[in-house]
Amino acid sequence: MARRPREVCRYKGGAAPNCVVVDAMLGWLARWLRIIGIDTAYGDAPDEELARTSCLLVTRDRALFERRRGPALLLLTEDHVEWLSALIHLLNVKPFVESRCPKCNTVLREAPCSDAEALVGHKIYSNRCWICPNCGSVYWEGSHWRGLRTTVKEALQRDVRCEKTF
Ligand SMILES: [Zn+2]
Repeated sequence: MARRPREVCRYKGGAAPNCVVVDAMLGWLARWLRIIGIDTAYGDAPDEELARTSCLLVTRDRALFERRRGPALLLLTEDHVEWLSALIHLLNVKPFVESRCPKCNTVLREAPCSDAEALVGHKIYSNRCWICPNCGSVYWEGSHWRGLRTTVKEALQRDVRCEKTF
């Protein structure tokens, strides 16, 4: 007899909205979602506020998921690639069309790397640079960014779909 597939995530709430709130346990995920371009708030908000948001609530907390009336995603795996895969497919996003600042969620502006070098005060060995118009943080495509692209590619291939409950 075939084994029942392991449950990776559970979703409720009809059509997924185009913004996300992750609970305080998922800071890593919040930064990554912003970099791939998803509008993501990161929960210093209290649970009652999280329970009310109209954005997609992403949590690992079953009790919070059960209480929630709006759209919610419960992550039941430890595998970070599966988290990304579930969200990319659920929200139907094309990763990296526009990146957001991992620190403040503002859409990044691509800039000449010479401008970025002037801001950070050292040479940047990259062809692509971005500046956050809100907090002034500078980013460039280096080994970390390439590692991230590889992980996102893997997430797209994994094709994780969440079980829907209503
Ligand atoms: Zn910023």
